[in-house]
Amino acid sequence: MSFHFSSEGRPLCAILSTTSAQEAAEILQDYLSRITGTFFDIYTGEGRIPSHLSIIRFIQTDAYSHTGFAYAITEDGLCFSGASSETFVYAVYDFLERIIGCRYYTSTAEYIPQNTNLSADFEPYSFIPLIDYREIYYKDFEDRVFARKHKAAQSKVHEGWGFWCHSFQFLLPSKDYFEEHPEYFALLNGKRHPAGEPCLSNPEVRRIMLENLRKFIDEKPECRYWSISQNDDNNYCQCEACKAIDDYDESPMGSVLNFVNYIADEVPDKVISTLSYWYTRKPPKHTRPHSNVHIMTCNIEAGRGLPIEADPACKESKEELEFWASISDHVSLWDYNIQFRNLVSPFPNLRTLAPNMQFFAKNKVKLLFSQCNREIGGEFSELRGYLLAKLAWDPYCNVEAHMEDFCKGYYKEASPYILEYIKCLHDAQDKFSKRLDIFGGPQDAKKTFLTQKLVQHYDKLFAMAKEAVSYDKELLLRTETAYLPVLYAAIVLQYGSRNKRLERINQFARIARATGLKMVEEWKITVDQFVTDALAEL
Ligand SMILES: [Zn+2]
Repeated sequence: MSFHFSSEGRPLCAILSTTSAQEAAEILQDYLSRITGTFFDIYTGEGRIPSHLSIIRFIQTDAYSHTGFAYAITEDGLCFSGASSETFVYAVYDFLERIIGCRYYTSTAEYIPQNTNLSADFEPYSFIPLIDYREIYYKDFEDRVFARKHKAAQSKVHEGWGFWCHSFQFLLPSKDYFEEHPEYFALLNGKRHPAGEPCLSNPEVRRIMLENLRKFIDEKPECRYWSISQNDDNNYCQCEACKAIDDYDESPMGSVLNFVNYIADEVPDKVISTLSYWYTRKPPKHTRPHSNVHIMTCNIEAGRGLPIEADPACKESKEELEFWASISDHVSLWDYNIQFRNLVSPFPNLRTLAPNMQFFAKNKVKLLFSQCNREIGGEFSELRGYLLAKLAWDPYCNVEAHMEDFCKGYYKEASPYILEYIKCLHDAQDKFSKRLDIFGGPQDAKKTFLTQKLVQHYDKLFAMAKEAVSYDKELLLRTETAYLPVLYAAIVLQYGSRNKRLERINQFARIARATGLKMVEEWKITVDQFVTDALAEL
């Protein structure tokens, strides 16, 4: 069955909105207008719609969980179904992308097809994501509009979360309680300490922390996720009562999880997340997370050269996640797709993204935080962000097809060369299977994917890529941005003659300036500093 939107620039349909669908209706109206060059009215009552117009409807239903949606052409028109205003928005963006052909490359670059005779013909479609919460920590995803186009949470603000992590300090601030009640805080080496974690076995402490949590929830009732988790230290209580619980569970996670379960039972309509981190890293022997408790674990030690499941060196990260999945229905995961100390250096982990995401989904990861680059830019930030969002939504999507589609649309005529570069880089990584470390850099890859010979080959590919898009300033800048990592690595590895190195540094500085790149190492090294140091080393 097909649905006709417009004919020769005249509208053939109208949008019937509801209160919860208003935002989605307006997004659809905006995109359809830009595609067809005509205007589509939004109505709130069916009776007022002219009879010659077909109707686009929004149907509220829980049939697709609180995260999924459906759309279909029925006898009543084009129908979008979902549980909330959020899922309606996701459904509309998804429809515009999958069925109509729009593409959301970056927060500032998208493709909108042009068609005055727009119609759609497709099979009914529905989807419920395996991972409920998806956050991709790249700059672009801090833009809420862009994030929603990819059905991801707005990054950095952790949309939907009341507390993100380390929240004991907010639930029991020592400045408010320690003076009068030192016994509320951890006993460390025989003394109660204001900088200690709460004494979680103390019933009074439990009551106060719950009461305080309820106040926070009242302030942000819309937040579904609340992290009830240890502070960022190792000062857990060693009093007799806490120690007894920890001894029984053979881990300080025992007293934390007991407390978290107590809180979770008291606020059953919220998802309670807690960290398995530092002193709580070792899982408890007996205590099990209650049904609305999500354990947030992280895989910071995992290498990125091979999929986590397939890499014998990632055994611990793998088993940790598998263990939590074996005793819980929900796991939260803090994952890493970043090279912290060399943000702009080549990091061939793209082939691991899909198998890793599938491994996470298989092991009940329901909340995913993918830590990428907090700074502007970074190696393939546009492409990697795009692919991560696609995979977080559907770990079994055809990631190769998405990568090609992205490159063709975003780099246009430069795409064959860039795809070839990506292939060479990853083939070289795969050939040696050397650990790809999130704290690594070009020096580690000097004998694998960043040999002088390969860098010369990459130079050639990018020379052709740039030539192919030299007619367009914007496409040229996108291509040069993709080339920055090669320049960066070659500068660090001091490849080539003095003149060649100088030329590379100047090129790097020029492109970095044009793209707004500020940092080459997280928190520490600015582009200016990097360039100054590189010139000094000539
Ligand atoms: Zn205690």
